[in-house]
Amino acid sequence: MVGEGNVRSHPAELISFGRDATPLHEGSADVVALPGSTAEVAAVVQVANRRGLALIPRGAGTNLAAATVPIGGGIVMSLTRMDQVLEVNRGEMLAVVQPGVTTAELGRAADRVGLFYPPDPGSRETCTIGGNIATNAGGLRGLKYGVTRDYVLGLELVLASGETIRTGGRLIKDVAGYDLTRLIVGSEGTLGVVTEATLALRPRPEASTTGVAYFAELAHAAAAVDAILAFGVLPATLEFLDDVCIGVVEDYAGLGLRRDAGALLLFGDDGTEASARLCVEQMAEICRAGGALEITTASQIAEAEDLLAARRCTLPALARVAPITILEDVAVPRPRLVEMVEAVAEITEKLGLACGTFGHAGDGNLHPTLLLERDDKRARQAAEQAVARIFAKAIELGGTISGEHGIGLTKKPYLVDQLGADHLALLQRVKTAFDPAGILNPAKLGS
Ligand SMILES: Cc1cc2nc3c(=O)[nH]c(=O)nc-3n(C[C@H](O)[C@H](O)[C@H](O)COP(=O)(O)OP(=O)(O)OC[C@H]3O[C@@H](n4cnc5c(N)ncnc54)[C@H](O)[C@@H]3O)c2cc1C
Repeated sequence: MVGEGNVRSHPAELISFGRDATPLHEGSADVVALPGSTAEVAAVVQVANRRGLALIPRGAGTNLAAATVPIGGGIVMSLTRMDQVLEVNRGEMLAVVQPGVTTAELGRAADRVGLFYPPDPGSRETCTIGGNIATNAGGLRGLKYGVTRDYVLGLELVLASGETIRTGGRLIKDVAGYDLTRLIVGSEGTLGVVTEATLALRPRPEASTTGVAYFAELAHAAAAVDAILAFGVLPATLEFLDDVCIGVVEDYAGLGLRRDAGALLLFGDDGTEASARLCVEQMAEICRAGGALEITTASQIAEAEDLLAARRCTLPALARVAPITILEDVAVPRPRLVEMVEAVAEITEKLGLACGTFGHAGDGNLHPTLLLERDDKRARQAAEQAVARIFAKAIELGGTISGEHGIGLTKKPYLVDQLGADHLALLQRVKTAFDPAGILNPAKLGS
């Protein structure tokens, strides 16, 4: 159905498709299919449905929740061959793309006509739009620009039955029927296979500026974030790194970051040259008043890009110092950020775990990353306890167990703690309505 050259079935070829970017989780696909068109996707899904075979849609496999791990075997469907930007329309300010286009490639295609695709996951050079839609990916610009869901106008979707439907379209306003587009966004490959997406674009900002403030403690940086937002600015970037992350990023990228600081706040804005500069100056002033040890601002776009690139490489930089990195993704209401940061420090310290924390401070979204040696059984058990306690604390503070990475296999046991049994049962009924035989990404969301 997809052409002989587009099937992988040799055990050695299947190994990488049994895993994704999540450590400690591994499954085993029976076969991998790489379709090249919607018709080929539909043909494979129809057969899977008829024979009751599991089918796991997969983009670049960069997710951090074991969302593509095929634990019960089945067909892994890699959408990476469907990698065409079909249209970029300047007048309508939208793009139509196949699911295997990377986020960065869409960004470059928009840039070529003076437009801009704001969602900006750290993995943008590798991850795909299909994966971004299925996880509702966020990123470094979430505070000002929102997340993937805010840009999805319409989808083409192959259902579990093999039928192809379209949701939404090219319209900004369209309230005909339930909003299935939004339901599919974040559904983690459990309700259908996305085969095409129509995405809203924005005018490309004229300039962007970035600054760095160093603080003695992470709590001081979090307090500065509160003060910045209370002042009434809405910056494009408000990211933080703790001392562990500053050290590993500096080792990796060699940007001259200050290693003796307890925390770093990366702040930035875009817009006209004057507005971006003003916003960054205002934020720098607020950080200074909040006790920052030192502040630097990047005047050139290239310099600003270097700083953002350094922030994006935090996870790979952490992965260089420990073979196993368990990265969590809780989010809390912004005023509770300091409490959450302090709770993570207390939990990991009590359990004797090494941890680096970074995240999207403006969104209240933290990535505490536990650093483990490969064969340390004690540390693994302690890490499980730490994760459970971190989730419980996030829920207690009115937050969520996942701000942007999704539920996958790793967070599924904790979902009921956040949603409650009735809510979870409704999700399961929605799943059954879309996929009665339960073939799409089984054992994940909705199962
Ligand atoms: C270094 C690093 C940095 C990261 N930074 C961020 C960040 O800043 N923000 C963020 O949100 N995430 C981040 N991530 C996580 C990850 O990159 C995102 O979740 C991304 O959206 C996954 O895209 P993917 O193409 O790799 O999808 P995959 O990992 O292949 O799949 C993810 C999910 O999408 C489903 N899926 C994939 N394609 C389709 C399709 N066509 N139709 C239906 N379902 C599909 C899969 O079944 C699975 O459930 C980061 C990961 C890494 C490794």
